[in-house]
Amino acid sequence: MRRWALWGLPPALVCYSLVLVATATGLMVAGLPGTPLRRADLLTWASLLAGAMLCIELTHRQGQPAGFSRDLLSAWKIPAALLLPPVYALITPVPLVALQHVRVRSGLVHRRAVTAAAAGIADAAGSLLFHRLLPAGLTPAGWFLRDPVPALVGAIGAALLCMVVNILLMAVAADMSSPAVHWWSVLCDGESLTLDLGEISAGVLIAVACVHNPAVAIVAVPPVWLLHRSLGHAQLRAAARTDAKTGLLNAATWQVEVELEIVRATREGRPLAILIADLDRFKQVNDTHGHLVGDRVLAAVATALRCGLRPYDVAGRFGGEEFTVALPNADQDEAVRIAERLRRDVAGLLALDTGGTVQVTISVGAAVLGTHGSDLTDLLAAADVALYRAKAAGRNQVAIAAA
Ligand code: GH3
Ligand code: MG
Ligand code: MG
Repeated sequence: MRRWALWGLPPALVCYSLVLVATATGLMVAGLPGTPLRRADLLTWASLLAGAMLCIELTHRQGQPAGFSRDLLSAWKIPAALLLPPVYALITPVPLVALQHVRVRSGLVHRRAVTAAAAGIADAAGSLLFHRLLPAGLTPAGWFLRDPVPALVGAIGAALLCMVVNILLMAVAADMSSPAVHWWSVLCDGESLTLDLGEISAGVLIAVACVHNPAVAIVAVPPVWLLHRSLGHAQLRAAARTDAKTGLLNAATWQVEVELEIVRATREGRPLAILIADLDRFKQVNDTHGHLVGDRVLAAVATALRCGLRPYDVAGRFGGEEFTVALPNADQDEAVRIAERLRRDVAGLLALDTGGTVQVTISVGAAVLGTHGSDLTDLLAAADVALYRAKAAGRNQVAIAAA
């Protein structure tokens, strides 16, 4: 079992956080003496900070829904990393994260520190790359003005590096922070990657505009802010569709989506299978380890299911400790293969708890469109009967509905 220590955090996470903060601080201290203090740099930095702070202030005034954690601050941090010496990239997140802490949401201070340090290290890496690419004798602004196309390509490459390093650093922290979160699930979050790409393209555009006049940063506030607000709407829409505990679709949304899949499969004469997975003896997990650990196990199982499925499969939480999965294009053999893989993945999970290791298994019932039913109600009923058989036969196994 993992021992929770120091401020209630896993020791590995505490060490990792301290290393990140020390690295960012060390690089900052080492970089400061060699960085010339130029008026033009300070002016650009002040404009970008003003743009970012205005966005944070607007977020504060509008109010932010609980659980909403995305910001678009990279739209301001990337221009700073590209146009200014690398030490600015390390300093920029500090006032911004502090302002967010005071004005938007007072989260845990250590988390804020790790976020600022990771962002600083990531942006400094991109900044160093971009400054390495600069032709001899040119400033970043000079390069954009003289060779716009190579400079733009270099800027996009450097911005991508900022994004990748930041994602990697935060994925490791997320993995260490909870047994239910794995670094690969952070990396394969397509929605988040799309937002990151939008954010860095806004950053590169602002950088190009600031080359001509740093005051443009203020003009960029409304579009960046509108983009941020649209994220809020998307987040609320997503929240209404998903089950908060597991991140999978909730039962109502799953049903609507799968009914559409069934209509499509029937019209096109393609196969489709439905699985119902139920955790084995889950009540015992709750009784032994408590409901909070039970909840973490549910989330870990949901992550395992999501990672073990194909991108177009539809997974939902049916209720309690039961999950449903629709497998478009899967005939009986394929459905059994996928169900077996999910069963193995879950059995291989080792959820960690303060008091010991929690190991769980699932039983799965499967039904195939056409063979076991022609609509969702029939398919669910058939899969449920098969699930019951899997339980009766000893659990931790897959059963297919009787034809
Ligand atoms: P079986 O192998 O027959 O499925 O046994 P089981 O113990 O899993 O089945 P049973 O239906 O008796 O118990 C289901 C348990 O799932 C009881 C309930 O406390 C637990 N459960 C349902 N929803 C949640 C939840 O959201 N969080 C937690 N922690 N437990 C839940
Ligand atoms: Mg159960
Ligand atoms: Mg059950």
